Amino acid sequence: MNKHDYIGDNHILTNIKTPLTPNAFDKSDEEKIVNIQGHFAKIMEELGLDLTDDSLSGTPYRFAKMYVKELFYGLNPANKPKVSTFDNKYGYSKMLVEQNITIDSSCEHHFLPISGYAHIGYIPKNRVIELSKINRLVDYYSHRPQVQERLCLQILTDLQETLETEDVIVLVNAKHLCVSSRGIKDKNSYTTTIEYGGSFNDLAVRNEFFKICEFENRE
Ligand SMILES: [Zn+2]
Repeated sequence: MNKHDYIGDNHILTNIKTPLTPNAFDKSDEEKIVNIQGHFAKIMEELGLDLTDDSLSGTPYRFAKMYVKELFYGLNPANKPKVSTFDNKYGYSKMLVEQNITIDSSCEHHFLPISGYAHIGYIPKNRVIELSKINRLVDYYSHRPQVQERLCLQILTDLQETLETEDVIVLVNAKHLCVSSRGIKDKNSYTTTIEYGGSFNDLAVRNEFFKICEFENRE
């Protein structure tokens, strides 16, 4: 079953996309930082914090800058890394796996960290990619308010488009702070999501990928 069976062709563009307003990027980053700084100061005041205290006075600005420039830089398509691909001149046609790619994301329901790893495999057709570009794409899609399922799909569909092949698999293993630090407060549980297409629909091909991941995790 490929991703289209899963979600249906009609939904793919709307469901996988991060929900944004049409005017999401009308304001500059600088304007957003000024506005968020004001809003966050209000939240702190509401909590009873004294913003004239030396230690707290700079927090609204730091918070706003961190949101716009760091944690959520991946919302803005202008920040998408340039990913160039190359002709597969050497004709490598077996599986390539890149493991333990850092996931630093945030859950969109609580705005708390999601941290973990992505393991990505693909079988090249005509195009190959510079390896670090996979990390950059993962970083970009992670730096948005996310749900892990959507993050996994956004990485998958981008790589399928970029590499011009359906033969891609994305496995994400992550801890959600909203599960470990609040609510149920489970410190040990983590979440795994797996999305794939093309040749990876074949169980034997998928198992080859899982074996490589397991091997690495034993090291
Ligand atoms: Zn959450």
